[in-house]
Amino acid sequence: MDLKQNSGTKCAIVGGGLVGALQACVLAKQGYEVHLYEFRDDIRNQEHVPGKSINLAMSVRGLTALNLIGLGGHVAEEYGIPMHGRMIHKLDGSTYSVPYGEKEQCIYSVGRRYVNEILLTAGEKFPNLHYHFGHKLSSLDVESARMTFQHGEKLSEETEVADADFVLGCDGAYSSVRKALMRKAGFDYSQEYIPHKYLELCIPETEDGEFAMPPNYLHIWPRGQFMMIALPNQDKSFTVSLFMPVETFDDIKDEATLMSFFEHNYPDSIDLIGREKLSRDYFSTKPSMLISIKCKPYHWKERVMIQGDAAHAMVPFYGQGMNCGMEDVVVLDEMMQKYPGDRLRAFEQYSKNRNPDAEAMCDLAMYNYVEMRDLTARTSFWLRKKLDTFLHFTLGWKWVPLYTSVTFSRMRYHLCVENKKWQDELLERWMFRAGCGGLLCAALVAYTFTDSRTPRFGGGVGAGFATLAAKLSSRLK
Ligand code: FAD
Repeated sequence: MDLKQNSGTKCAIVGGGLVGALQACVLAKQGYEVHLYEFRDDIRNQEHVPGKSINLAMSVRGLTALNLIGLGGHVAEEYGIPMHGRMIHKLDGSTYSVPYGEKEQCIYSVGRRYVNEILLTAGEKFPNLHYHFGHKLSSLDVESARMTFQHGEKLSEETEVADADFVLGCDGAYSSVRKALMRKAGFDYSQEYIPHKYLELCIPETEDGEFAMPPNYLHIWPRGQFMMIALPNQDKSFTVSLFMPVETFDDIKDEATLMSFFEHNYPDSIDLIGREKLSRDYFSTKPSMLISIKCKPYHWKERVMIQGDAAHAMVPFYGQGMNCGMEDVVVLDEMMQKYPGDRLRAFEQYSKNRNPDAEAMCDLAMYNYVEMRDLTARTSFWLRKKLDTFLHFTLGWKWVPLYTSVTFSRMRYHLCVENKKWQDELLERWMFRAGCGGLLCAALVAYTFTDSRTPRFGGGVGAGFATLAAKLSSRLK
């Protein structure tokens, strides 16, 4: 790549979260003059950083993206806590585990703040990357890429105007850059709040400084209409996320109701969290809404592009929001390399290529919302998982289970969905044939062993079976 070609081009990135901080490093590495504007102060200097989920599950797509700046190995091998499978907590307190894939396949529990901080620190080694913390984008002219920021003590005291050759909006689900794009004709947008909220609790380390539950699992308490999950932290605690319908949250107004709810639904978790702590943490935190957003196109000419949650916020049930957002950085990098010097073409191709994948992932995340809280507790679900694992083991990459393709590969998300559809159809056909085969056998047995003295009865049943089986098998030919 010709770094000199990019050196005079000024790129502004709005939002220094997980996606923006990574994107800034990648563009700085390519030689662009990068300015990153972040609404918050530098999180590396803050004691407490408020915001969504404390820890996240990172998998192949996120790690591949981090490897663009050489951080994937550190996160996987030195920092992240490997989770090899789900550990299901039943109502009676017993547990069982189900691996995510093959023995060596795992996802990693990582701290949001830690990953964000190492990305910001990584950016400091590029002299052409400039940080502007405490800057909130208040308006953007997408034609000219002129931005206005609020900054100063209360983010409203001063305004600053800045220009760039192009702007990348990595400013999250409530993106101001996206709001500016929405004023352009042809920009499609839809959003959906799900009727469940989430609230975070904590299982602390034990008195002897150990994890209170086996650490190398994503723990799930599936309870049909609601569920709880827990991911391990580096300090040996677990972050617990409770997902429930808004009305259920509303119904729990005092300690007695909370305890009775937990005794009923999550009895084994009470001692792990601690009664007092459970009540304190529950009532001191406000549950948050979960939103899913789809829009297109992601760009305006060669001037503006949105990425990460700004382009495709998704519900968190597949653990792919950050992974997908970070993969956006990889895909944009691929497009920029494919069309050097032609940013318009790169942006157009990125938008066209990425949209079906991001939307497929939003849909999959919504589907997993049901799978995790309800289906994981069903026998049919685990039978299908076992069959998928067996077929994957026997046929290798000719039969890739959905979870494997999404989490342990970089297969395009929309192809993961098509792959699953094809597998479902094939399995249905097999099951139909197996059913017909069984019916045919039953017919033959009935026909062969019919008592000759009662021809009408035996013959009738046998002949009936035989006719039915013949009809069914002729449909299959
Ligand atoms: P954000 O992380 O939201 O960052 C946006 C940044 O932009 C912020 O720093 C913000 O301060 C800044 N900003 C906003 N507005 C402005 C403005 N006007 N001007 C300047 N700066 C601005 N994903 C996974 O892959 N795995 C998981 O296990 C997982 N678990 C999750 C659990 C929960 C409960 C939730 C809610 C999400 C989870 N996600 C997970 C999704 C993941 O958190 C997001 O996809 C990811 O944070 C998106 O990163 P982002 O950089 O696009 O946006």
